[in-house]
Amino acid sequence: MATTDQKYRLITLPNETLRKPSRKIGLISAEVKSVVNAMQQTTIDWEDSREHEVGVALAAVQLGQLMRIVIIRNNINEKEDRSFSVFINPVITKYEGNQEVDFEGCLSIQSIYGKVPRYQKVRVKAIGLNGREFRVTVDGFLARTFQHEIDHTNGKLFIDYIKDDPDAFYQLMPDGKLEKLDYEKDIEKSRILW
Ligand SMILES: [Zn+2]
Repeated sequence: MATTDQKYRLITLPNETLRKPSRKIGLISAEVKSVVNAMQQTTIDWEDSREHEVGVALAAVQLGQLMRIVIIRNNINEKEDRSFSVFINPVITKYEGNQEVDFEGCLSIQSIYGKVPRYQKVRVKAIGLNGREFRVTVDGFLARTFQHEIDHTNGKLFIDYIKDDPDAFYQLMPDGKLEKLDYEKDIEKSRILW
């Protein structure tokens, strides 16, 4: 397994940096490129350490870097394809369709999954590593992924949408199944999540 630069380590709740908004990036510097490389390697290393989960995407804040950078797997249906696309200063320019509720997890919130409402379709504007602006329109799971990751750049987490919903929280069990959590005990009074 390749090792990630120790400077960049995956952070998880209750680390407060996850609640802070990231800075807009001006220049695609060598530092930006090394953060992107560390993000890709961290996501792959994480996936290799998990039996039942796929590392779909990551935001730079999850390595403690408050930079508006998001990476998303190019082929989320093909685990063997370990390439990513890079989105710098990503912004959702339009939400379309209805909101749909589905399961969502996060590398920074260990083993907890939630049923989160998200728009079915979004349009996204971003800058690539080549410095050029581009736009994408995505729907379904990919639209959910963009909404989750762009929230990270604004210091927002998926659990924030569902914190008052006693039926929305699940735990990933060792056998790979999702089991509903005891809301009052495991969620509402958690010192890790809030
Ligand atoms: Zn996340």
